[in-house]
Amino acid sequence: MTLEIKNVDAYYGSVKVLEGVDFSAARGELLGVIGPNGSGKTTLLRTISRILKPKMGTILLEGKEVMEMKDKEFSRNFAAVPQDTSVNFDFSALDIVLMGRNPHLGRLELETEKDIEIARRCMELTNCWHLSERPITELSGGERQLVIIARALTQEPRVLLLDEPTSHLDINYQIEIMELLKRLTSYEGLIVIAVIHDLNLAAQYCDRLILLHEGEIISTGSQQEVLTAENIKNTFGADVIVKRHALTNLCYVSPVPSPVKRQPESTEASSKNNADTTIHLICGGGEGASLMHLLSEKGYKVTAGVVNVVDTDYEVAQLLSIPVVTEAPFSPITEEAFQAHLALIEKADVVVLCSIPFGFGNLKNMDAAEVALERMDKSVLVFDSDKIEERDFTGGEATKRFIELKNKGVLPVKNQEEVLKKLPVFV
Ligand code: ADP
Repeated sequence: MTLEIKNVDAYYGSVKVLEGVDFSAARGELLGVIGPNGSGKTTLLRTISRILKPKMGTILLEGKEVMEMKDKEFSRNFAAVPQDTSVNFDFSALDIVLMGRNPHLGRLELETEKDIEIARRCMELTNCWHLSERPITELSGGERQLVIIARALTQEPRVLLLDEPTSHLDINYQIEIMELLKRLTSYEGLIVIAVIHDLNLAAQYCDRLILLHEGEIISTGSQQEVLTAENIKNTFGADVIVKRHALTNLCYVSPVPSPVKRQPESTEASSKNNADTTIHLICGGGEGASLMHLLSEKGYKVTAGVVNVVDTDYEVAQLLSIPVVTEAPFSPITEEAFQAHLALIEKADVVVLCSIPFGFGNLKNMDAAEVALERMDKSVLVFDSDKIEERDFTGGEATKRFIELKNKGVLPVKNQEEVLKKLPVFV
């Protein structure tokens, strides 16, 4: 079974709201429709559910023209869960769900045991059978949503359309509803098309995404294809970072808050002095990232090195426009990068050796700290709260060198707060 939306244009009056919308969905697929407010997501669902007639294009279910189906036939194939599911009448949840049987009943025909059994099965599937006797008006938003989805399922449709089914719901209901949609596609073989506001929720559960912007599909495909920082900037106008989650390997989108983009922010008198002070972080392995944020917020100039270009420290440095000496991914520090690192350190007022793990590949960062202290006569702060032995992957070489360095007059620090406290001495 395939649902094909072919080159659809839709209008409200003379205003075109959907243009050339073209995609298909196969049995068992959960499709997420995303896009900024006003991009046409609801209109797309309204068009598929025949509330709005397309001016151009066709919609086919298993090759059959959807617009030409009789009403009952259409309702036996398509069910919709609208955005606003509030009900003003005091019906019981079961009465509401039984309304979903209407497309299967003849005129004036009453529900039979079989219809009640179907309603019960759908309420069990959506985990709301225990609410069957409760008046719908007394249910919470999440409970009501489950009942309304059960009503849609009671139509026994092949295509389920939902408009923001999880908005205004707490995280438990968000998960419950998304997992339900996943089950409906995987086990019941439905086609589910859901408008989803939350990009991370969409990434987590949908098989495919459709990104709409000003009535047109900007991108469609897997989460990796659609959820790119560029696509999100071009459609939502928002600056985001898109990463893969280490545990789930799924994309997640984090907004870049404006204080991160503005640098520095503070108007305190001290920040004026801070702006004249350059702090160089010898970092890597994500050990410098947090300090980069903190020092930038305090108005200091920050530089960093040597980090590999796949490192979190590298990404944060890029984000904060921090000059950084880099090395190719997973490569040892070359002489060239080492020299560039020394040149950057030369310009700094204070050098901080972060709590980095040492292998043979980055021992040159230890050399850099030594040169800073001895040849360049810099003030060098060294994090020493994490035991060096536990982050030494050189068989003792790094530990020996670290202890020597500490004995040569560096300033040991335990945490970032201590760094901040000690810095004004050098300003
Ligand atoms: P979304 O669901 O992505 O927020 P909509 O589909 O609701 O977007 O709206 C798409 C465009 O159509 C918007 O510009 C909106 O103002 C307009 N629109 C929505 N509903 C109507 C309507 N009933 N009459 C006229 N214009 C509408």
